Amino acid sequence: MFRLSGEQSAIVDGVTAVCKRFGDDYWAECEEHARFPKEFHRAMAADGWLGVTMPEQYGGAGLGIKEAVLVMHTVARNGGGMAATSSIHMNMFGPHPMLVHGSEAQKASWIPGLVAGTTQVCFGVTEPDAGLDTTSIKTFAKKVDGGFRVSGRKMWISTAQVAHKILLLARTSPKPEKGKGKATDGMSLFYTDLDRSKIEVRRIPKHGRAAVDSNALFIDDYFVPDSDLIGEEGKGFHYLLDGLNPERCLIAAESIGIGQDALERATRYAKERVVFGRPIGKNQGIQHPLAENWIALEAAQLMVERAVELYDAGLPCGAEANSAKLLGSRAGYQACQQAVLTMGGMGYAKEYVVERLLREVLVCRIGPITDQMILNYIGEKVLDLPKSY
Ligand SMILES: Cc1cc2nc3c(=O)[nH]c(=O)nc-3n(C[C@H](O)[C@H](O)[C@H](O)COP(=O)(O)OP(=O)(O)OC[C@H]3O[C@@H](n4cnc5c(N)ncnc54)[C@H](O)[C@@H]3O)c2cc1C
Repeated sequence: MFRLSGEQSAIVDGVTAVCKRFGDDYWAECEEHARFPKEFHRAMAADGWLGVTMPEQYGGAGLGIKEAVLVMHTVARNGGGMAATSSIHMNMFGPHPMLVHGSEAQKASWIPGLVAGTTQVCFGVTEPDAGLDTTSIKTFAKKVDGGFRVSGRKMWISTAQVAHKILLLARTSPKPEKGKGKATDGMSLFYTDLDRSKIEVRRIPKHGRAAVDSNALFIDDYFVPDSDLIGEEGKGFHYLLDGLNPERCLIAAESIGIGQDALERATRYAKERVVFGRPIGKNQGIQHPLAENWIALEAAQLMVERAVELYDAGLPCGAEANSAKLLGSRAGYQACQQAVLTMGGMGYAKEYVVERLLREVLVCRIGPITDQMILNYIGEKVLDLPKSY
């Protein structure tokens, strides 16, 4: 990925060295016991990788999204799948709104813990009754003396079983009726304690990535102090928008890395497995789909690079970041699926890992935005077609 400078090659080598300490057995064990990969998280923190994009004054490396993409792509390529990437994903883009809109005091107290890995944060946006229509969220933060009282429900919140903090989006004024103000106004962003003795966090049984939990949250009259509000009241949704394009690039790079890992495993198997007296990889029916996977992964990677270059240059990159996310998650998914099919029965066996990668990579096609919503975006914003919904 990318033509790398010396410093960037060192990032790839350093992250690879950490990942190599956590082999297939480690990830299989985390999955089997549905336990957070805390040793991996700690190891990444110890070598400074959790603070890649954080300012140096708070202990980070102060680098751009390109370097964050390199970190996540490298993690994804090395066998840990989404269990590995999701355990550190929030660190790469999540704190962005606080960096840009938080006060000096907030940053000084919040960021160092995230860099050191002593604080974990989850991202609390999705709601059961709003879905992708984020402006329709119902969680409400009512102003009271010294803070806010928050009530509502959140859905799918990843790492909430282990996180100490939550980046929480809530309405602080009701959604305006159609034609009477902007639906995107009136939401506020908080970085606050996730106190599981006061917020009910219910784990959702799911298809893959058992090691990293996702949860329904039940929030009932939960007090959040004024000091935990990021920036101005009512502007929270706008603050989140800043971080959406980098996150799309990160997810794309993660999917691509997982797809490349699966492709490597399938290719190795196709060379070694002999049926009808010849390696199965000698059959074009096995070889060509793998070649197609390689091409699709490379093409998606180019789109990630384009989006990242634009973003790091301060230029608009919505079309490219969304396209990269769609291409990357499809290519990653298809490569994992093909890896299973290449291996026949053994593709279905846990021992060969690709069935886990297939289950895990699927989520990249769903979150944080689906294929359909990306196509809506391109149709409307790039092709200038009428909004379809
Ligand atoms: C494992 C996992 C982890 C997650 N982690 C987090 C997290 O940490 N924090 C968080 O906030 N969220 C998280 N999410 C939520 C995720 O971002 C959402 O699931 C995703 O944004 C889709 O929203 P939804 O599930 O509500 O789908 P819905 O909004 O219910 O949509 C359902 C389907 O309808 C389609 N659709 C809806 N409207 C339109 C339209 N106008 N045009 C075309 N198609 C349409 C969608 O594309 C989708 O295919 C996670 C989800 C999963 C599965």
